[in-house]
Amino acid sequence: MIYTIYPHALILFLTTIMSLIVALSAWSRRNTTTGFILILFMISIALWSFFSGIEAGTTEVANRIFWSKMEYLGFVWASPLCFLFVFSYTNHWKWITKPVLIGIAAISIITLILAWTNEFHGLIWRDFYPGDPKLNTLVYVHGTWFLLYTFIQFCLFCFSIGILFHDLLLQKAPYRQQTVTILAAVLIPAIAGILYTFGISPIPGLDWMPLCTFFTGAIFTWSIQTFRLLDLVPIARDTLVEQMLDGMIVLDGQQRIIDINPSARNMIKGGDAIKPGDPLSTVLPELCPSSEDLKKQSNTQILSIHETSDNNRFIDVRMTLIKGTKSTTDCSLLILRDITKRKTIEDSLNQANRELERRINEIQILQNKLKEESIRDPLTRLYNRRYMEDALKREFAHATRDGYPVSIIMADIDHFKRVNDTYGHSAGDEILIQLSQLFVSNFRVEDIVCRFGGEEFLIVMPETSAETAFLRVDGLRRFLETTELKISAAKIMITLSAGIAVYPEEGSNIEEVVQKADLAMYRAKSEGRNRVIAGGHSA
Ligand code: GH3
Ligand code: MG
Ligand code: MG
Repeated sequence: MIYTIYPHALILFLTTIMSLIVALSAWSRRNTTTGFILILFMISIALWSFFSGIEAGTTEVANRIFWSKMEYLGFVWASPLCFLFVFSYTNHWKWITKPVLIGIAAISIITLILAWTNEFHGLIWRDFYPGDPKLNTLVYVHGTWFLLYTFIQFCLFCFSIGILFHDLLLQKAPYRQQTVTILAAVLIPAIAGILYTFGISPIPGLDWMPLCTFFTGAIFTWSIQTFRLLDLVPIARDTLVEQMLDGMIVLDGQQRIIDINPSARNMIKGGDAIKPGDPLSTVLPELCPSSEDLKKQSNTQILSIHETSDNNRFIDVRMTLIKGTKSTTDCSLLILRDITKRKTIEDSLNQANRELERRINEIQILQNKLKEESIRDPLTRLYNRRYMEDALKREFAHATRDGYPVSIIMADIDHFKRVNDTYGHSAGDEILIQLSQLFVSNFRVEDIVCRFGGEEFLIVMPETSAETAFLRVDGLRRFLETTELKISAAKIMITLSAGIAVYPEEGSNIEEVVQKADLAMYRAKSEGRNRVIAGGHSA
């Protein structure tokens, strides 16, 4: 085989090298669909350009046809792989179903078989004649299948370009630059291919298409390095918004819905029927952001209660005002989050908290009651002896510190046994209760009236002299000697004997002072009862 090196053959070999470099650059991304397809795409270009390079330098027609058949090993895959690459890169892989893949592969395989068996049917090449002698070109007159194949590839190509343009309008940097480079990488050889198919070429028989794939490789190399093509694969906005769990509604300046995603529809009653242009007030009447809110707030949080027939749904709505650009007007973005679950948990927690609070209050009341019970006499409700001892300690300590007297009165009902014997024990109890009330009302709030035991009472009077204490208890004694106490069974008159002792004058501790008051009381008894004895005074 005679082989001569021509300039365009050199370019074709360079294209082979370039394509292999791109394939190698993409090797680390072979696990991704986009990376894997790009590798296959570049290998197909490498095969195609390599055999094109050999074909370009071969003189004998038979040999050239053989190498052209070899070219088809790459050529038949390049265009469909380019199409698949665009679909994968733009996140439209869902459209590439198994039947589509099988269809595309079948067309390529048929084309390959037809190329290899061309001499039997001429469906790929009908005729060959010499082209430009300087460049050693051979003009291939194409057959029916080739034209049909080119038409199919042209359709796929239009699809790819359409998708790339569509995405280009929606994308931001760096995806925009990536898309521009892919567009260029696809457009250049495709245009060259169309020109070749229609025989539009300044040099007869020169196939510009494999030559132009040099640019495809160069552009991909540049894009991988500069825009991190394959590393930053854009996530389609549609996929993102359509599949996100949060609801999304976009409103125009007049609060009309311009976009709504499926999650938002699910959250709203009758959401499926919402059409673009519906006003927010009819769709979500519960959510009525004031125009003031909309104007000033860029991040308002509104909790809206959405009622359905069987239960309440709680939707947390966040509003973001999106300032318009030169070409767009202001709009509002609502992000809806279903917080029903959280709210239900919160509600049950609050309820449990309230219940706990109620229980704690109950316990507190019971504790207070218990405390009160422990210091009260159950019959008369006066303070009991235990409390008296604590109170005396406290009052004596204050008195010592502040230097004032504390009077202690010991009072005892005269001949109480007789009351019991005559009217019965319960009548005696009634008398004890009435007398206790008289004690409480007759003494000051700060005085501590205790039931000392049986029918004996002890009154602690802080900051009180013996004279004042005397006047106070003697007043009660006088009242009793002239007053009948009405009980259920009868009217009874009782008298009272009392003794007074003063701290610190008459004793330095509780026992001493109480004992002194007791002694004074017994003196009152022994001196004829119905009297009060304080120090030397008596009445
Ligand atoms: P004196 O003038 O010497 O104090 O005579 P007295 O009868 O009052 O004294 P005594 O100590 O002999 O009797 C006290 C009586 O008080 C006996 C007891 O039945 C009665 N008593 C004590 N505690 C209660 C009580 O809680 N209820 C009733 N109904 N009676 C009581
Ligand atoms: Mg008595
Ligand atoms: Mg007694």
